[in-house]
Amino acid sequence: MSARIELPPVEQLSSGQFRGLNCVWCGVKLTTGAVSAGIARGRSGAHILDTEVWSCPNCVSVPVPDREPGDHQ
Ligand SMILES: [Zn+2]
Repeated sequence: MSARIELPPVEQLSSGQFRGLNCVWCGVKLTTGAVSAGIARGRSGAHILDTEVWSCPNCVSVPVPDREPGDHQ
């Protein structure tokens, strides 16, 4: 599985996700600990709708491969 996660296009976002009020991945309402997930791309005719979208802490912990597991065999 690739670590690179494609953001959904802007057209698929809810209004809350588009406005950064809800997690872009699971849709949960963001309160604290929200992390920028990047820029979702979209356009409507001549208008560019690119917007920064946000992830809840639970979702953002999934795709980050930085951390070594503490114990393994
Ligand atoms: Zn989430």
